[in-house]
This record gives sequence, structure tokens and C-alpha cells, in this order.
Amino acid sequence: MNNVKYEQPTPVTPSQPSRILVIDDDPLILKLISHYLREAAYQVETVTCGETGLSVIQESPPDLIICDWSMPGISGIDLCQQIKSDPQLPFIYFILLTVRREIFDRVTGLDIGADDFICKPVAPEELRARIRVGLRLRKVTRSLIEVNQQLRYQNQLLESLTLTDSLTGVLNRRALDTTLPGLLQQIGARSEGKRYRYLNVWLIDVDHFKKVNDTYGHLIGDEVLRIVAQRLQSHCLPGSSLYRYGGEEFICVTLGINPLQALVYGEQLRLAIELDPICLIAGEKLPITVSLGGVVSNEDEPLNEQALLKSADEALYQAKERGRNQTVLSGLDPYSRMNISPS
Ligand code: GH3
Ligand code: MG
Ligand code: MG
Repeated sequence: MNNVKYEQPTPVTPSQPSRILVIDDDPLILKLISHYLREAAYQVETVTCGETGLSVIQESPPDLIICDWSMPGISGIDLCQQIKSDPQLPFIYFILLTVRREIFDRVTGLDIGADDFICKPVAPEELRARIRVGLRLRKVTRSLIEVNQQLRYQNQLLESLTLTDSLTGVLNRRALDTTLPGLLQQIGARSEGKRYRYLNVWLIDVDHFKKVNDTYGHLIGDEVLRIVAQRLQSHCLPGSSLYRYGGEEFICVTLGINPLQALVYGEQLRLAIELDPICLIAGEKLPITVSLGGVVSNEDEPLNEQALLKSADEALYQAKERGRNQTVLSGLDPYSRMNISPS
């Protein structure tokens, strides 16, 4: 019910025959290598330039690439760099094929992310052994990535659970404590880069709720709280967040509405509960009502978190004093005419 989002983990795919892409501008080398690899029952594809290699890789990433270092156009080293820095591509084991034996060249290759080197002329046994090592390493790396994804997903799920109230499904007080300071920081003058002029908080308390528990029992009481939460949530403005503050108290936080708009909004929330009696026992309508105490923090007199909640609490106290089923906004007498500029 709350708006915390989390990613689904990528499903684990069953193992398939390994696909190897060989890129070399020398057709003879391509022929030779693909012969050695097909003998070892690998699925082999060959291309003669880096440009075509790149589009094959982006369209359908292979498990392993054997690529010539020196080619006209995109060289092996450029291709390796592009592939290793592309976050969209999965881990692909990359072997550079080279005649260069100098240490310096190898260091350059390793630094840009090549996983191994094979020197020409290619010895079939060495080639196949290095491919076996590469595919083993790729498998281990892929499982580590999958474990990591699962852990991230579980962490997100856990985080969303710790921010959700288990009875009503709306955000909990911990979520409010976490988000309110950040929301308050968005209030201020446009010239200071702030996005909103106002932030409205409504503290909403179910009237005489103890009586509901005493009369109908705690299970019915719980159900009433769930329905009240759902009702409030479905009447919330698109940018509003609803939190269960504790017991039978909820808090609704909205950015960008001025005091008059906030008062109208509070009334709508109150009426959403009053006008639609809750029926949980056959033939009996529960006359549930709520009282609301609210406050609007504005750019001229910004309130901190404590001051905001204290004002809302004092307004709620007044709403109770006035006989409950009331909406009171701190500092705003609903019967006086006020000149309030838009958000
Ligand atoms: P008022 O109009 O002044 O707010 O009166 P009230 O009876 O609503 O307020 P009071 O603070 O006296 O009682 C609140 C009750 O809410 C007492 C507590 O048992 C009940 N309550 C708090 N949390 C839950 C809950 O999760 N489930 C149920 N069933 N009852 C709860
Ligand atoms: Mg209360
Ligand atoms: Mg109450």
C-alpha cells in the first residue's frame, strides 16, 4: 500500500552451450581458431572487424570473446574498453589475441580490462585450456553477480518492510522520521533553489477509539484502523504521504499546498470518514469519526520538525476540545477572510 519500490531479482537462467565470438581481420586465423573450437564443441561465431563485432555483442552478448589486438577501425583494445565499460552488458570474458610479447603492451591490455592474452601463432591445446579457465571464471563471476542481485533485492524488501506499518499497510513512524527532514528542506524561496513554498501536516486521530475496542473488541478495533487507513489513503492528494503515527493516530504530509487549500483538504479527509459509516457487524453501522489538527510551514516562517508536530498536536487538542469530528488548522481561523497567495 505504501509507495516504497524495490527491484525484482533477475531470474537465474539455465546453463546453455557456451557461445564464443572470434574477431580478427585475418580470415585464415578465423578459420583456424573456429576449427579448433568447433572440435571442442563450442558454438562459434566469427567476424572480421571490430565494428561488426560490437553490433553482434550488443545484440546478443556471447560468453567469451577472442579478439585480435591490431585491426583496422576499432582495435581489439578499443573494443575491449567499450565492452568492459558498458553497464548494459553482462560479464563477458575477453581474450586479446596478439603477436606482441612486450610486458608494456600486456599491462596496457590488462589495465583496460582484458581478462587474458593468447599469442599468435595459436597452439590449439593452449587455446582450449585458456578458454576452459575463462568460462569457469565467467561462471563464478556470474553467480557472484546473481547473489549480489538477490541480496540487493532482499535488502530493499527488508527496508520497505521496516518502513511499513504491519497492521494498516501505510508508512510507519520510522518512515516519517526518515523523510520529514528531507521534505522540510524543500521549503523556501525559489531564489534559494527551493521547490515549494509550503508544507502541510495533518495529525488525524480517531475519536473515542477506546470505546470501539471496549464495545466490539480489539479485532474489530484493528479492522476499523485498517479501513480508516485505506479510506484516508484513497482520499490523499497525489503528492501526499500517509503515515501511521502510532495507536489510532495518522499523519498526512503534503508539499506545496497553502493554508486555505490545506484546510479544504483536511475537511475532505474528515468527511471521507464521517460520511461513510463502517459496517463490520451485520446490521450495525459504526459511527467512526476523526479529529484533525494541522499546520502549514511556509517559506517566511519555516518550522522545524519538532515545532511542526507540536503545532499539529496543539491544533488536534483544540479539535477535540471543540467536540471532536473537527478540523483545526494552527494559526488559521476558518471563519476569517485571509489573503493567501498560491503555492
Ligand atoms: P479521543 O477521542 O480523545 O482520541 O479518545 P480515544 O479513546 O480515541 O483515545 P485514547 O487515547 O483514550 O485511546 C486510544 C485507544 O486506541 C487505546 C488503545 O487501546 C487503542 N489502540 C491503540 N493502538 C491500537 C491497535 O493497534 N489496535 C486496536 N484495536 N486498538 C489500539
Ligand atoms: Mg490518540
Ligand atoms: Mg483517539
